[in-house]
Amino acid sequence: MSPAPPRARLLGLLCAPLDACQGLLDLLLPPACGVCQALLDERREVLCPNCAAELEPLGGALCGRCGLPGADPCPACRGEPGPLSRLRSGWAYEGALQQAILRMKLGRRIELAEDLGARLAARALPGWEWQELELLAPIPLHPRRLHARGFNQAAVIARALARAHGLPLSLDHLVRTRATPEQARAQDRAARLANVRGAFAVRAGHPFAGRCVCLVDDVVTTGATLHAAAEALLAAGAREVRGLSVARTL
Ligand SMILES: [Zn+2]
Ligand SMILES: [Zn+2]
Repeated sequence: MSPAPPRARLLGLLCAPLDACQGLLDLLLPPACGVCQALLDERREVLCPNCAAELEPLGGALCGRCGLPGADPCPACRGEPGPLSRLRSGWAYEGALQQAILRMKLGRRIELAEDLGARLAARALPGWEWQELELLAPIPLHPRRLHARGFNQAAVIARALARAHGLPLSLDHLVRTRATPEQARAQDRAARLANVRGAFAVRAGHPFAGRCVCLVDDVVTTGATLHAAAEALLAAGAREVRGLSVARTL
């Protein structure tokens, strides 16, 4: 047998102590569920089977346009359809998923965003065809909020979706031009729309013109944020804008 090439030997030398460190880390800090802290069999898992089973799919009859459970089209979409041609979400924003998303944002748990993105990528969503999409674009954070949080959860989720489905990703062409206050839950849709209107712009040299672009976010509540971002993409020449989120407030 020929000796291993120098690069492989070097890698082996580097990895042996890393493996030992991983073993020690597992002993000192055993891998735990990102939500309930139950111990996990594998460090690469993020949610325990109980918490994963608690994710509530948005099933049954839903509006083909906005994805809300109920009539198709729903009364809102029949009245004023809005700029998003299709909006879907993986699960209801409640229980274990709500906990996971709050921990992800407040506790800077990037691995939770990666895990939720991978789960969403693997989910079959009604009326959703991945191959119809031409570009993914996460909802950007304002630079001040990005600095405070340390990462954009929507970008991490979008990266997982892009990887799973071989789709191109635009991370920095859609920008937030105005820091908007956190969307309060109590606000109605009109107030939220007014809050985010004109808060997005696209940079010169953007790739959106003529393409079917899918906006990605972690949670959709009234859809006002996606709505404002979609208007910016359409104004920049996007052919069609769809939206996808991990969770949806019902
Ligand atoms: Zn758990
Ligand atoms: Zn609808």
